Amino acid sequence: MRFDFATSTRILFGSGEVREVAPAAKQMGGRAMLVVGCSPECAAFLIDALKKEGIGCVSWAMRAEPSVSLVRQGVEFARQEQCDLVIAFGGGSAIDAGKAIAALLTNGGEPSDYLEVIGKGQPLQNPSVPFIAVPTTAGTGSEVTRNAVLASPEHRVKVSLRSPMMLPRLAVVDPELTLDLPPALTASTGLDALTQLIEPYVSIRANPLTDGFCLEGLRRVSRSLHRAYHCGSDIAAREFMSLASLLGGLALANAGLGVVHGFAAPIGGMFDAPHGAVCAALLPHGMAVNICASRTRTPDGETLRRYETVARLLTGKPDALAEEGVEWVRQLCLELQIPPLSSYGIQERDVPTLVEKAAKASSMKGNPLTLTTDELGEVLTRAL
Ligand code: NAD
Repeated sequence: MRFDFATSTRILFGSGEVREVAPAAKQMGGRAMLVVGCSPECAAFLIDALKKEGIGCVSWAMRAEPSVSLVRQGVEFARQEQCDLVIAFGGGSAIDAGKAIAALLTNGGEPSDYLEVIGKGQPLQNPSVPFIAVPTTAGTGSEVTRNAVLASPEHRVKVSLRSPMMLPRLAVVDPELTLDLPPALTASTGLDALTQLIEPYVSIRANPLTDGFCLEGLRRVSRSLHRAYHCGSDIAAREFMSLASLLGGLALANAGLGVVHGFAAPIGGMFDAPHGAVCAALLPHGMAVNICASRTRTPDGETLRRYETVARLLTGKPDALAEEGVEWVRQLCLELQIPPLSSYGIQERDVPTLVEKAAKASSMKGNPLTLTTDELGEVLTRAL
């Protein structure tokens, strides 16, 4: 047994914990760049709190998932404003943008010098400026991951900037911040969290630490996602989903992902489709094809056993078969009105290009078995 586990320096979890952000920030810097990924009104109280602590603060609004050029602009802005601390307050988009900006502020150069797959992939040499991540969605777990996912429209793909030095100094997960998430966002981000608990659990890099996080997270999602969707003000359901998202982040950062995220990288680069919704549409089909391939190739293997465990946790049936887990997820996607991928303009004719790009995506490396081109095509075609 051998594994490498790293996470944010400090994690604060609980309703009202957002009040700890300003006092903690005071220990880390004097002038903050606040990357805001929700409405300006929702961040107003944080700006006031930072000012009360005597911290200078300039905000920067995120209106879309981050791209390489947006991060370049963010770095320029932070330099002009002489920021020595970055705080991200929003969904995974704001957190990833802030994480990348904090890293490039101390490392210089272009994002492409460090980007995986399409860039030079050089390792970062210097720790980021202090970075605080405060999620306002419950899905990505980006507050505890070491990568920032950036779109490169030029290459029509999403790729990561990745280094253990990018791990946030502080992650503050306050479920109350998710109470106003509308149902469609609760659904898509929540299913991203579910994907990030299933894929690391069946990943070839799964380890006993990440297994524990995945199993606990799966229990939480199975009991709370439909409740959070139907009754957004249910704080207990929101708390479970924020915890599940955090657990998914801890797992994915240390065990990797699989076929669903393998496809999310090129789809997010080629189409205007939100990440969580893409993962949600692909999840039951990625599971089904992996299970079918495992039944044929390794019927007595570990992968099938793990999918069975997932099914038992999700359905609550102690003797559930792996396929019953797929059916549970499929029904949940129907209940949560997850649109098919065709609703984002993805068509049959895009399948060969997306399959070719997905096969090279870094997330695909965690998939429990190497899927053939036909099997990859099947996952995507079924999700259209
Ligand atoms: P997001 O950050 O793009 O936000 C989606 C929408 O929700 C935005 O319009 C935002 O303004 C709104 N929003 C955010 N908080 C809200 C709130 N409390 N109330 C109402 N609206 C709110 O969505 P996301 O799914 O959180 O993040 C997606 C991004 O995260 C993608 O770019 C994806 O690639 C990335 N990601 C990164 C990692 C990682 O480990 N780094 C993991 C998974 C996903």
